[in-house]
Parts: sequence; C-alpha cells; structure tokens
Amino acid sequence: MKITLSETAGFCFGVRRAVELVEQTAAAGKTVVTLGPIVHNRHVAERFERLRVREAAGVGEIPDGATVIIRAHGVGRAVYEAIAARGLGVVDATCPFVERIHNLVRKAETEGRKPILFGAKTHPEVVGICGWCADPLVVETPEELENWLREEPKRGETPLILAAQTTSNQNLWKKVREIANSLCTNCKIFDTICEATENRQTAAAALAAKSDAMVVVGDRTSSNTRQLAAICRAHCQRVFAVDNAAELADCDFSGIHTIGITAGASTPAWIIKEVNQTMDEIKTVDTAATEESFEALLDASIKTLNTGDTVTGTVVAIGTTEVQVDLGTKHAGYIPCDEVSADPNVKPEDVLHVGDEIKVFVVRVNDQEGTVQLSRKKLDGMRVWEELQEAADNKTPVEAKITETNKGGLVANVKGVRVFIPASASGIARGGDLEELKGKTVRIRITEVNRERRGGRVVGSIRAVASEERKAAQEKIWSEIEVGKKYTGVVKSLTSYGAFVDIGGVDGMVHVSELSWRRIKNPAEVVKVGDVIDVYVIGLDAEKHKISLGYKTAEMNPWNQFTAKYNVGDVAKVKIVKMMTFGAFAEIVPGVDGLIHISQIADRRIAKPEDVLSVGQEVDAKITDIDAENKRISLSIRALLESAAEEQAEAAEEAAEPAEAVEAQ
Ligand code: SF4
Repeated sequence: MKITLSETAGFCFGVRRAVELVEQTAAAGKTVVTLGPIVHNRHVAERFERLRVREAAGVGEIPDGATVIIRAHGVGRAVYEAIAARGLGVVDATCPFVERIHNLVRKAETEGRKPILFGAKTHPEVVGICGWCADPLVVETPEELENWLREEPKRGETPLILAAQTTSNQNLWKKVREIANSLCTNCKIFDTICEATENRQTAAAALAAKSDAMVVVGDRTSSNTRQLAAICRAHCQRVFAVDNAAELADCDFSGIHTIGITAGASTPAWIIKEVNQTMDEIKTVDTAATEESFEALLDASIKTLNTGDTVTGTVVAIGTTEVQVDLGTKHAGYIPCDEVSADPNVKPEDVLHVGDEIKVFVVRVNDQEGTVQLSRKKLDGMRVWEELQEAADNKTPVEAKITETNKGGLVANVKGVRVFIPASASGIARGGDLEELKGKTVRIRITEVNRERRGGRVVGSIRAVASEERKAAQEKIWSEIEVGKKYTGVVKSLTSYGAFVDIGGVDGMVHVSELSWRRIKNPAEVVKVGDVIDVYVIGLDAEKHKISLGYKTAEMNPWNQFTAKYNVGDVAKVKIVKMMTFGAFAEIVPGVDGLIHISQIADRRIAKPEDVLSVGQEVDAKITDIDAENKRISLSIRALLESAAEEQAEAAEEAAEPAEAVEAQ
C-alpha cells in the first residue's frame, strides 16, 4: 500500500495562532476563558481543560477578572462592547483574514452597499461578520442568492457587495459569483475564501483523484473537515472520515493500493502523527518493502525545518503579541514581538510590514502542532556576532555605548551585544572615575570574541583605539611638521620652565621665555592646563621627537604696541614701577618701561626720586627720546612742568600788555 500525505493538512495559520495565544495566556497565569471553542476538535478542547482554560458561550458567563480569548472566527461589535462594559481583559485571536471581512462589510455599509455573505448562517464566523453590519443578507446556496435577486429584479441594480465565509466550498462559491455577475449591475465581489482552505481543498482533490481511498482526519463537528471529506468523495469512491487513529480500526482498506491522507484546519498535528503511526503499522503488515514510509512523508512535508536554520519568509500579519510569517511550508511561522528587534523600544510595525520578505532564525520547531517559533532578533544578533568577529580579526574599531560600570570595568552595548571593557582598557587612569564614561558613545577595538562561553563573551578596549588613533595622528603630524607651522593645541601640563602643549597627538614644549614678552617667573602666569592656545613651531628634533613651540607673537610684542601708539613728544600717562638713585622707571604700556632721569622728575633740584615720586603712582610724562635699537625710552615730567610755566608766563605777559598800551597813549 502506498500512502501519500496531502501537500497541506492540519492546523491553518489562524487556528494555530489562536491555540498558541490561549496557551501563552494560560502560561502567564491568567484565568483564561475562551468565547466558544477555539477549534472544533475535542482533543484540543481536552488539552485546554488540562491547562484550566474554560469555555463560555457568552460574555455573561465569564467570571470577573478573567481574560477573554476571542477565537479565530471573530465576533461582532456588540461582543467587544459587552467585554469592555464588563472591564474584562481581552486577547483577540480573530484571524486576520476574517478581520478583513469585518472591515469590508463595515466599509460597504458606509458606502451605501448592502452586504451579501455566502456561508452557513449559524456558523460563528458568519455570525461574527454579520455583527459588523446593520442589514446583511446571508445565502447558503447559489440558488438562494438567485431566488433573492429574481424575487425583486430591482435588487440586482442596487449597490451590493458579495463576500464568502473563509471556509466556503470553492465550486459553490464560483456559482454564487456567476449568478451575481449575471444578475447584478452594481455588485462588488470580494473573493474572501481563505487560501489555506483553498490550498487544502485543491491538494485534497488532486490527491483523491489519484488515490484508491482517502482518509480525512478531523473532528466531525468541524465544518471545514466535513467539506474536505465531501471534496474527496467527489474524486474518490472510498473516503474514510476519522476523528483519530483509533477509528482507523473500523476502516476497510482491503484491495486498496494507494491511499491519500488529508486533515481539516482544526486537526492538530499530533492527531495526524497518531494516524501516521497506525497507518504505518497497517502498511507494514500489508505492503512490500518498497513502499514509502508515511512517517518519512510526514517528516518530509512537516519536518522540513530545524532549530538553528536560517529561513526566508513573508510577513503575513503583525499582531499585538507576534508577527506571523509564511515560510512556504506547512509550518505556521511566528515571531514573538520581543524577538523582532534587539532594541526594546522598537515596535514590530516600525520595522516590518505585511508583505515584507525577511530572513529569520528558527528557534523551535513544534512538529506536533506544525508551528515554528522564529526570531529576527537572534538572526540580527548572529550577524552582529559575525561583524564583531570580523572587527576583531581586522582590528577595525566599532562604536559602542557605555551602559554600565562594574567592579572590573565597563559594559558597553554594540548593536545589542554586551561587550566588557576592563578598567585597564578604559583609557581612564588607575583610580579615575569610570562613571564619567557612562552613557557615552566611544570607539573600541574588539580584543576577544568567544561564542563558546555561556551566553558568549566579547571584550573590547577603548585604550587600544585611542592609542592607535594617537599613533596615526602622531605619524601624520611628523610627516607634515615644519618650523613656522601653526597649530591649535591644548595645554597638557606645566613645569617651572615651560608648558607642554598637545598639538593633536604629539606634545610640544613652549619655553617660559616664549610664553610672554614680559619677564615671567612661572608659565602659570600666562596659561593653565586645559587652555586651547595657538602655537607655532620654532624648532624640532625629529630623531628625539622633540618640538619647541612659540606662543608669544609679534602682535603681542609690547614694544610694537608702544611704537604703534606713541612718538617722541607725545605725553603718556605712566605708572612708576621702580626707583633708582639716578631716576625712576615708569611703565608706559604693559611690558614697556621708560626712564625718568632724576633731573627730569621736577623743575627744581631734588636729592632722590622718592622726594617727589612713589612706586605705583601714575603721572603724566613726556616722551623725550626713543632709542629703537636699544629699546630705551626717555621720559620727562620736568618738560611738562617747564612748558606749563612758560605758558603761564606768556599768559601773564599777555595780560600785562593792554595796561602798558593805555599808559603810552
Ligand atoms: S481557515 Fe483561513 S481564515 Fe480561517 S482561521 Fe484558518 S487561516 Fe484564518
């Protein structure tokens, strides 16, 4: 006997999702109540019972504080309102394909179209859809639609929309559409039969057509299982509808050489597995060794994925708890929302869209249920690990954000991977405060990547990058440096003889004599550590790697400032700075002093300068001579006093002249 498993069988995507949501919610310790049976399968119902999942026929039966699971069939608007009014928690497992019909009929009515639904009037999915529109018409057969349209021919001219229950029979639906097309002039038709159902039906029909007998596995209360059996009967004379493997004992397989197996959308994989094992036993007794093993077939069709695989799939729905991914196999793939991205702030809809083709990592294959748990985060993580290994091999620096400090050093985050940076590699001096790096983004060199260690270990070094960058900067500076070249640098340290300035990776020294035109005793009189200053190269020794820098410039030269402002004959306000026996020195501009000879201090003879002047005193003095060569300036207070006296005398003479003139007359 040759046994062939239909290309598609078992849980559809919507049912698998609903079952998982129930299990996840129950596992979270909540009191879970499903609104009606999640699937029409008593084996699944028994499993839920073991998880203490209860079933309620209506919202009124649900105890306070429970979490309601809305099954894949969906419910009408009034049910949501009743749940909200009770303040109950809700997990919505409505299949996205059913939800689409809810939206269609809602929108149709707002556009003034009457919704017509082809389906079973009492089926929960149909009841739910009707709960989203005010005046729907449900037809169960093509004839029913034809009669309704012919009853009042004008109906065919009114705006209508036509949709089908997702699990409807394709052939009947085709006839319904033909009637609508021939009798209606303004009817929008939406083919809403679910592809899962269509695929299952098409595959079952094709298999039935080439088999001597078909086994249809599923609960007898399941509408789609019953339809599947009907389709098989249309192509094959001997069809056995079984609820489980035990019922195979009642089937007469005599004279059958080829047998096909299919299963309804509500049939869990473990039931198919049981049927598999039993069929295999029958086959072993009945068939030659050349026959193909059902298990192998089942495995080939179901177990085509392995944990650790990387696969490509298409996003088919983005829900509140998971993203559903079509992998092109029997498996229903899903990514829990927290496995979408390593960044906890990223929502699935931020990075994924329905229809996107994505690569995902297979986390867990559940052959019993035909589900595959996937992770995009893990695959991204794997890519990051590869990138980190590559960065370590090539010594390429990577950007890292420092997230924590601990006893041993720092913890950084590189695209979701934790990287440890020992304190000695942090670039902070021993005893320094590592906290100052927290929250900062730094460049690090990956020094170790070890995926074998539990959870993996990556070690990085900030110091290595800093030292490499410093070395590169040094090489650049030494390749370009020349006397006279200007740099902007940072004062790194001060000594009694000068200031060390970092000019971009290389330190140069500004001797104390080069800091100021004034005579200074300590560099701190001019600069302090951390100052950013402009310097220029006045000498260098490439072999000894020594650079002498200058800071003071011609513009800063006090002599130049003096000559720009004063000439011989000008009067300047000066400050007495030093007394000598032969005179007093006075500051004309900062850094430039002039001498007031003792003979020039007063208009009379004095014994010493202190007789007239004191240090710190400000006086007006005339510049009587500038010796540019020796940078000497002569000042005179007396010159000003004499000219003042002369002016007074002249004024007195002028005042006396009119009186003499009068006398002469
Ligand atoms: S049969 Fe299709 S529409 Fe119905 S629950 Fe399954 S996937 Fe959804």
